[in-house]
Order: sequence, then C-alpha cells, then structure tokens
Amino acid sequence: MIVVLKGGSGKGEIEKVKSIAESMGLKTNVSQGRERTVIGIIGDGRYEAKERFESLSCVEKVIRVLKPYKLVSKEFHAEDTVVDVDGIPVGDGFFTVMAGPCSVESEEQIHRIAAFLSGLGVKILRGGAFKPRTSPYSFQGLGERGLKYLRDAAESHGMKVVTEVMNIQAIELVSEYAHILQVGTRNMQNFPLLKALGSTNKPILLKRGFMSTIEEMLLAAEYIATSGNKNIILCERGIRTFETMTRNTLDLSAVPLVRELSHLPICVDLSHSTGRREIIPPLAKAALVAGAHGIMVEVHPIPEKALSDGRQSMDFTQFESMMESLRKIAAVEGAKLPEGAVVQ
Ligand code: PEP
Ligand code: MN
Repeated sequence: MIVVLKGGSGKGEIEKVKSIAESMGLKTNVSQGRERTVIGIIGDGRYEAKERFESLSCVEKVIRVLKPYKLVSKEFHAEDTVVDVDGIPVGDGFFTVMAGPCSVESEEQIHRIAAFLSGLGVKILRGGAFKPRTSPYSFQGLGERGLKYLRDAAESHGMKVVTEVMNIQAIELVSEYAHILQVGTRNMQNFPLLKALGSTNKPILLKRGFMSTIEEMLLAAEYIATSGNKNIILCERGIRTFETMTRNTLDLSAVPLVRELSHLPICVDLSHSTGRREIIPPLAKAALVAGAHGIMVEVHPIPEKALSDGRQSMDFTQFESMMESLRKIAAVEGAKLPEGAVVQ
C-alpha cells in the first residue's frame, strides 16, 4: 500500500505517517520525488491502517499496490534509480558497458584486457574468479588469486570490478575486491544468499534465472531490497527455450517491461544469452535502442584459447568495432534512447 502526500508536504507530514505506521507495527519506505512524496507501507495489517492515513489532511490518497513486489516497483518509487558504483552511475541516462573475460586466467591476461578496454572508455571490468561451471571437471576459476589480479588490473586502469559471489560464506572475501557483487543465473532464487546480500551496502548485479519469469526476477530483487540494500542492477541474460542455435534465448522484451514495472536499472548480458560472438553486435544495438541501461560482454584477446566460454567471447577487433557503432547509435537524434544516454 502506498500513501501519496499532497504537494508541498515536508518532513513533519512524513513523520506523521511514519508514526502511525510504526504504532501499528508496519514498515515504511519514503520516496521523495521531484513532484510528490510517496510512502510505501509494508506489513500485515496495513489495510486496517488505511482509514487512519486517509484521515490525515496532508494525505492526497492511499493506494493498494496489487503487484507482489513492492519496494522495487514503480508505484513505490516513481523516479528511476541510478546506482552509484563508486562514482560510476548505472541507470537512467547512461549506457554502461561492463566487459572482460569470462574467467580471470592469469595476471597477464586480465591486465592486457583491462588496458585494452579502458582505452575504449569502458569503466567496469568483469571477470570470474569463482566460477559456477556446469561440469565439475571444467575450470573452476583462480579463487582469491583471481580476485587480486582482477582488482589490481582494474585499479591500474581506473576501472571498477564486477564479479560473482556464489555463496554466503564468500560475501566478505569477494566484497574486499569487488565494487559490484554479481548474483549468477543459477543463484537468482537462492533466497538466503539474496537476504545476506541485502544486508551489505554493495551494488548488486542480479542476473535473471535462466528458468525464471520477469516477475520472479523482480521478486528476487525485492528480497535484496527488503533486507536493506536498494543498490540493485537487474540483468537479462537469456532464458532456456526449445531453441538450440543460441545458448539461451535473449528475452529483449524484459528491458522495456522492467522499465515500466520497476525503477531499477536493467542491463543485458549479450554473451551468456547468445553463446555466439558473431550475433552480439546487432543485439547490443537492439538493447540500447530498447532502453537498456547497459550491457555485459565477454572479451578475450584469443577467444579460441579461453579457459571458459571462448565461443561467446569477442576478440579485441570485434569489440572495438561494436563500441564504435554503439557510440554512433547513442548519438543518433530522435532514436528512442534513454534521455541524454552516453556510452561510458
Ligand atoms: C557470468 O557472468 O560469469 C556467468 C556465469 O553468467 P550467468 O550466471 O548469467 O550464467
Ligand atoms: Mn562466461
């Protein structure tokens, strides 16, 4: 349920609503927009409080939120959230490129990639150190050594780090090195992990589960938000369908839908959704035009030699030409881009 305050309401009016809610054991979430202040009310028994809120002179209206997710919904928070990744904004008005290898393979490899990407203006370096591999015999990542190499490479080139955290026990360690904690597709509904990440203050990149609906992704984000962390970036990364030509099926419709339903930024992982590098550039353009706030792409100097996901990793030449065409599209006047979109 949301309580919409009349224009011109300030701190005193917000406090009135909060104290009624608290006296009834309800939680509040205040969202002060440019035009209006909205207070989300969460908890059992909220509808009993409806009349008490309506009777306040500062209240314009009280609306029931019928969607199962609340804190991440547009109703609760009309203005789009821009997540601050240690000075790098991700969200409305920006098109953020997160790129790097599937796995950190060596110190030399990740430094070489970071040098190349930062030269093209990429600000967020990705790379796996703890890898969720389908087969236990596949390369599992370098672990903490990989995290060190990744952070060093990023710092040497003025970049930020996004990397996956696979379980609760690893949160503390990964947080020492990462600016964004990534929740992988296989963990999207690992509720204890989501709750634990909700009690950190790190930006979270939440990948859509490969068998999950858009609503389930938003509910997974709600788990993080309701535990206290609202710095969430959603990521469409493809879902499993009957199609076998691609690794997953990229559900680009998630982008405009999420933008309509939620205030959280939504990015698109083009590598894990497609599984094949040659179709990434046109889909990157499509993601930008569809309103995505950014993309994630795997890049490797010699994809054929990559220890994981070589087939879907772009080489330097391909990535550079994709960035060039993205810059052109972002600059096209009249295209349906987020207002003032810039490619970072
Ligand atoms: C990754 O980005 O390294 C990854 C494993 O992605 P996903 O969880 O989407 O498969
Ligand atoms: Mn990968």
